Amino acid sequence: MNQTKTYLKLKDKARTNYPTMIIVHHSGGTDKYPLMDTSNHTAAMMEEWHLSNGWEGLGYHYVIHKDGEIWLGRPEHYHGSHCVGHNSDSIGICLAGNFDLTLPTQAQIDSLIKILKSIKERYNIKEIVPHRKFSNKTCYGKNLSDTWASDLIKEEVVILPKELLENNKTSMEEMKKYSFKKGILKAVISLVLFAIPFMISNFPDIANLTIGSVLMLVYNWIKVSTTKI
Ligand SMILES: [Zn+2]
Repeated sequence: MNQTKTYLKLKDKARTNYPTMIIVHHSGGTDKYPLMDTSNHTAAMMEEWHLSNGWEGLGYHYVIHKDGEIWLGRPEHYHGSHCVGHNSDSIGICLAGNFDLTLPTQAQIDSLIKILKSIKERYNIKEIVPHRKFSNKTCYGKNLSDTWASDLIKEEVVILPKELLENNKTSMEEMKKYSFKKGILKAVISLVLFAIPFMISNFPDIANLTIGSVLMLVYNWIKVSTTKI
């Protein structure tokens, strides 16, 4: 982790940011050269550019370099300058690169996951979205889907069967046993469902005999169990 000059300059400012979402950006191309490769751009370069726009400093809260290095921009409690209309209710993260053209590196993805998890733990974050949700830019790049960033930290929800939950059998071992038993039961049911019509059409005599015997057994069982002594 490193920090830019911006952080030092703005760290004592009063709270002006109340994050409910995380907005992810790419450094992208320029208006003149939309397909410019900016994967080697650094937080310092972005800061210089933002300062030249007359802003207070780097507009993002975090910048992730191509090698995965995380640079702190603005402190989280201070509003950003990265997304019109949402600079006071979001945290802005920028990945160096033009993902209209390329993809983020694995190191960048790993660092992004780390930051997303950490922010989610500390704020009531309702969504993680690409910048393009609120602008007509392609940001964070055409090569990445709208849910790409949020999917990175999606938790898999395992729904345990009621029988296991009620008996407090929630271990992986119990789950495996349960699935195995269910599998066998399903196989037996499908075999029976297949065998009955097969027997009726091919061996009607055997089928009649079998069904007849089963019915007799059931009849006897009911008779015996309901007989009053
Ligand atoms: Zn953007």
